[in-house]
Amino acid sequence: MITGKNYIGNQLSAKGDKVFTTFNPLLNKNNDWNITEATPEEVAKAASLAASAFKEYSKFSGKKKASFLIAIAEEIENLGDNLLEVYCAESGLPQGRANGERGRTLGQLRAFANHLEDGSWVEATIDTAQPDRQPIPKVDLRKMNVALGPVVVFGASNFPLAFSTAGGDAAAALAAGCPVIVKSHPMHAATGEMVASAIVKAAEKTGMPNGVFSNLNSNGNDVGQQLVLNENIKAVGFTGSLKGGRALYNLAATRKEPIPVFAEMGSVNPVVLLPKALENRAESIAKTYAGSITLGAGQFCTNPGLIIGVKSEGLTNFTNSLASDIKEVTPSCMLHPNIANAYYKNKETALNQNGVAVLAEISENVPANFATQAVITVSGAVFLKNPTLHHEVFGPFSLVVQCEDKAELEEVLANLEGQLTGTIISDDNELENYKTVVNELQNKVGRIIFNGVPTGVEVCPSMLHGGPYPASTDSRFTAVGVDSIKRFVRPFSFQDWPNNLLPEELKNENPLGILRTVNGVKTDKEI
Ligand code: NAP
Repeated sequence: MITGKNYIGNQLSAKGDKVFTTFNPLLNKNNDWNITEATPEEVAKAASLAASAFKEYSKFSGKKKASFLIAIAEEIENLGDNLLEVYCAESGLPQGRANGERGRTLGQLRAFANHLEDGSWVEATIDTAQPDRQPIPKVDLRKMNVALGPVVVFGASNFPLAFSTAGGDAAAALAAGCPVIVKSHPMHAATGEMVASAIVKAAEKTGMPNGVFSNLNSNGNDVGQQLVLNENIKAVGFTGSLKGGRALYNLAATRKEPIPVFAEMGSVNPVVLLPKALENRAESIAKTYAGSITLGAGQFCTNPGLIIGVKSEGLTNFTNSLASDIKEVTPSCMLHPNIANAYYKNKETALNQNGVAVLAEISENVPANFATQAVITVSGAVFLKNPTLHHEVFGPFSLVVQCEDKAELEEVLANLEGQLTGTIISDDNELENYKTVVNELQNKVGRIIFNGVPTGVEVCPSMLHGGPYPASTDSRFTAVGVDSIKRFVRPFSFQDWPNNLLPEELKNENPLGILRTVNGVKTDKEI
């Protein structure tokens, strides 16, 4: 049952009088659930409960935290298809996507549980004492990663499950030993409450302290800002717009004690088309890209919003094919009227820039909240002069930049902002002549793709989902895969600490059998 209440720790609470509803974009009408926004007192209570829970939770063994994450996955499964129905009613996304995203969410939780059970992720590093060292003795030092403290997670509008309540950020923080307060996304608050109920059940079943998890509703900036400013909060995970992420990042920096804000924001994911590839297979590349640009109504952070090539017959064949292929795609529903309105506004702005030519634009009437896809083109010189054309148009949209030569192509890449991904489409052996292009692209992105599409983010340890600003606020970390846990820990050293009082990970006997670096050598042996 959806109550519309907040979870303050394991208690349902609705003390406020500000109520809002979510929206079904396919039916173009409000959903029936009344969601109550958290009051400042509820925000403060959730934060103080999280601070008390941290003292106990951060000391739990990897095994115990893993049992919690596994129980969360089981409880989400127990919600059954009702969860998918609510997800679809709040997002306009099809059931198949909902099912796939649920699978990904469960997979992420279980991957973190395995990571914790393995235990080596704490990066235990031990340098044993040398009492006889001259001219002064060497102390015994032992370092490992420890939890940062309570973390606030801002769920993403475009991933109601995999990047929201029990999504990647929440799973990573809980795995690290940090209590989590989710600032539920207002577009899918009921889906959020269902998932929150599963987390609370799992916490109670596995003996977690009250306050290890809270879920707060809001439809406006206040609750999120109160959370970021609360002194009990020690880090923030965010997925969404550049405007929102940057505002929260700036706010965190105004605190007496500034805290890290790990924001994953916009990206246009540049794709470079090399001439030989275009000469040999312009049509098939175009077909693949028509699919990638329109996948999920273009509502992916890895959507290919910028395609760059050098003027040639091959590039003209590509643009012609892309124009006709993109027109064949049936428009689909966007997540929310606000997202659809932002799409049409940003698309219009791009279309109205000087020097822009339209390759394809669907002008047919579509149902409310559906996105009509578009592809436009400009010369390299126009693109270089106009920063507006560098901005993300979140939706089924892409801009093709036609450069005069390789030098201009490199200049275009050198003038891009930071991106999540970059892609090179090349023929066999062609890439060898474009090492400087690869280098320019690599400097701008977190992940580089060869002959593929940027959409589709594999969840595995070697994935890097992040990149130089503004793709993310800290390019040293990934938001996807088990390494995302590193955002919510800090390295900590024990000096000359009694063996029996050390954490298990650092004891001489290595009771967990984890891989450690002992006196410079990687080993799982005892000391
Ligand atoms: P958003 O507007 O950035 O909101 C994300 C979350 O942050 C929401 O929970 C929102 O809560 C909160 N928030 C935003 N600005 C805030 C502020 N100044 N202070 C405190 N909290 C703030 O993103 P969205 O709702 O997901 O979508 C809006 C646009 O973001 C889209 O049209 C798209 O352009 C972009 N977007 C990009 C990506 C990507 O991966 N590149 C993904 C999703 C969205 P409240 O609304 O309750 O304040």
